[in-house]
Amino acid sequence: MDKRKPEWTPNGAGEAFASSVVFKRESTAQPGKAHARKIWDLDALEAGVKADNRTILSRAITLVESNSPKHFEVAQELLKRLLPVSGKSIRIGITGVPGVGKSSFIERFGMYLIEQGKKVAVLAIDPSSSLSKGSILGDKTRMEELSRHPSSFIRPSPSSGILGGVARKTRESIVICEAAGFDVILIETVGVGQSEITVRSMVDFFLLMQITGAGDELQGIKKGIMELADLIVVNKADGDNLPRAKVAEREFNNALHYIRNATKGWQTKAQICSARTGAGIDAIWRTITEFCEKTGDSGVFEQRRLSQTAAWFEDLISEAVLSRFFQSPQIKVKLPELREQVAKGKIPVAYAVSILFDD
Ligand code: GDP
Repeated sequence: MDKRKPEWTPNGAGEAFASSVVFKRESTAQPGKAHARKIWDLDALEAGVKADNRTILSRAITLVESNSPKHFEVAQELLKRLLPVSGKSIRIGITGVPGVGKSSFIERFGMYLIEQGKKVAVLAIDPSSSLSKGSILGDKTRMEELSRHPSSFIRPSPSSGILGGVARKTRESIVICEAAGFDVILIETVGVGQSEITVRSMVDFFLLMQITGAGDELQGIKKGIMELADLIVVNKADGDNLPRAKVAEREFNNALHYIRNATKGWQTKAQICSARTGAGIDAIWRTITEFCEKTGDSGVFEQRRLSQTAAWFEDLISEAVLSRFFQSPQIKVKLPELREQVAKGKIPVAYAVSILFDD
């Protein structure tokens, strides 16, 4: 008899309830071979995620993060089951250069939300970890109080893979966290390269963090990035820095009038806060609430979600087509020679491409 303790039981379950979850063993169909193979217990995974069992929640995310083809099918089946109960959170993207105070802010803001009765999940997209083993977001001891709180769940960035792959995993992790009942999902990324655009494409509200510099706040920030934001937060508005932060807030608010808004019907604005003292944190939440009400009433909120999913679908199709193309044996044979000829200028590029598609 199985003497292991169940990893979780539903409320009120009796002694007999056993849920040695996640793995089942099943003999393979081949006669004469007694070895068993692991299969995932989808019912247990589904129930565990929905009951917000943290062990199972983490495993479910590990499953969608896996690059192994044998996990893919189970992960997709799990997501299919969870989709009907997902989608009810507010997804907030948070970006800013290293040192701007993202983790301090998330710690403070997350605890504030928990005080308001919310459950908060934090997911990270760390482009540095996609490129190298180093990580801009992950190494420090971060968000200590928040990470200990039972109403929070913090998941570091998947540690490998191209940005596109990491993005898919994060999107799927959002579904899982929502099915586990998280009300607010914070998706953090460092403000370098493509990652802001990636995060923008999966959140409802995008918050750009800034600090005051030597009066050159506006020069240092790219217009393209400002156009992604629904709110610019000038952090570190405390102590001697407070007056400078207020100047920056005003300058941003002026500049924002000349910049295209990220969200239809919403004037992007700038606000100050201090992740250190907590000043301004409540006002930021009020802004986000107001945003949700406005865009909810106008239908823009829902519309964005629909178009994000549609765009994601198109992206995945392109990815799949590309990957199938490059894996095809015929292409693998033709490609190296053509590459060389193109590089040496022996044949026109478009002609080389047309040869690839010749049967
Ligand atoms: P991240 O790299 O964007 O995650 O930034 P961190 O949260 O690690 O913060 C970088 C540094 O700025 C740390 O030394 C923080 O203590 C400090 N810091 C963060 N927020 C504030 C703030 O509101 N006021 C002040 N004075 N310092 C802050």
